[in-house]
Amino acid sequence: MENTFIIDDDQRAILETVARFVKDEVTPRAALLDANVDPEQCFSWDLVEKAHEVGIRTMTLAEKWGGLAVDSLTTAMVVEELAKGDMGVSVVMAQTFKIAQLMQKALNAEQQARILPGFAKDPRGLLAIGMSEPGNGSDKHTSHPVPFRTSADKTPGGWIINGMKHFISNGNRASHYLVMVQTDKARTMADGATVFLLERDHPGFTIGRVHDKMGERLANNAELVFQDCFVPDEDVVGKVDQGSNVFAEFSPQSNAYAGATILGVAVALHRKAIEWARLRVQGGKPLIEHDGIRAQLAEMRMLIDASRSYVHRACWLAEHREQGWDKTLGALPKAMASQAAWKIATWCMEIHGGHGYMKEFGVEKLVRDAAAFLHSDGVNRTLFLKAANSMFGPLPNFNR
Ligand SMILES: Cc1cc2nc3c(=O)[nH]c(=O)nc-3n(C[C@H](O)[C@H](O)[C@H](O)COP(=O)(O)OP(=O)(O)OC[C@H]3O[C@@H](n4cnc5c(N)ncnc54)[C@H](O)[C@@H]3O)c2cc1C
Repeated sequence: MENTFIIDDDQRAILETVARFVKDEVTPRAALLDANVDPEQCFSWDLVEKAHEVGIRTMTLAEKWGGLAVDSLTTAMVVEELAKGDMGVSVVMAQTFKIAQLMQKALNAEQQARILPGFAKDPRGLLAIGMSEPGNGSDKHTSHPVPFRTSADKTPGGWIINGMKHFISNGNRASHYLVMVQTDKARTMADGATVFLLERDHPGFTIGRVHDKMGERLANNAELVFQDCFVPDEDVVGKVDQGSNVFAEFSPQSNAYAGATILGVAVALHRKAIEWARLRVQGGKPLIEHDGIRAQLAEMRMLIDASRSYVHRACWLAEHREQGWDKTLGALPKAMASQAAWKIATWCMEIHGGHGYMKEFGVEKLVRDAAAFLHSDGVNRTLFLKAANSMFGPLPNFNR
């Protein structure tokens, strides 16, 4: 648990539990699960159930719902610790952690009482957010003036949803979903979409294709399909047409959690690079005794430490917004951490020489994993645009 910003014994105990879970349960089987050809076989319910047994799955729930009320800074440390073992496992849990936090703020009392006890008890309870669509990807981050294509029409007592979401993390595994749907088709996704709460197996809501991914394979991503799906008014989250506010207001740390995930992979790559540099002898001495390699290993450390500081600052400020939170912290920490991780991935491969390209040395899986967060949670370029819009105001043709 190097370099963590631990401030109390509770935090230490939680992180030790997570580190043990990673060492005993995740690390021994990550490569084997990753190697499955069928993406659905890469996912392990056993790991989810074991995470439940030791209290990880529900740790961001308040104590009254059976959780540990873990704060955002500690959650980021947990997410990083999980990703040191496997990025997919970290994503499965990070989605669940952040949506559980969001639900406790954004759901009304009746919704919370209806949903949270069942989620807390179910050892397989997982959560997902459905925003991206085949025709709408980055637009949700840059606030282009377009609507979502998945839409809901008003009907007595509720709404009828039609359309489709794709790429959704935990899409085929979640017990509960928050889905952004266009409710005012004359407006944009920024001011005319609504968040709906859906349970698995809700009539009219089915799971489509499970995507076959390059990396992050221990997490599944899937399509969500809505065909004349009736959702009662009671399942609207927040206000109609104001869905984008729900995520902006109640999940400000989401981007930083994504940064923490990719950071875990960067740490795993850095460890591998150091290990190999100590072991491999070329030019009559171990690689680590060559100045160029030593300097590169130190530069990797700098990139990791600086990214972690940014992620931790964003998480802490998300819960202390009066201390100087600004919207760039909801876009940039993940961009920085994922760029750092990608650089470290290519350097780690370079330090391994040809061995880095051979699957048996384990670098190849980490490189595939490291690529995931260049796009997941927003393509970095569009996150820079999002940050720029908050710094300089939107361009005239932007709707925000
Ligand atoms: C592993 C993974 C997990 C994911 N999990 C989820 C999830 O749980 N829920 C969910 O809703 N979505 C999820 N997504 C979807 C993800 O949010 C989108 O992939 C992302 O927002 C980008 O959309 P896109 O893939 O359609 O790319 P596009 O929007 O088509 O972008 C393609 C390229 O165009 C560039 N571009 C786009 N717009 C602009 C612009 N205005 N100016 C300049 N350049 C631009 C982008 O930067 C990018 O380089 C996931 C994706 C991945 C890869």
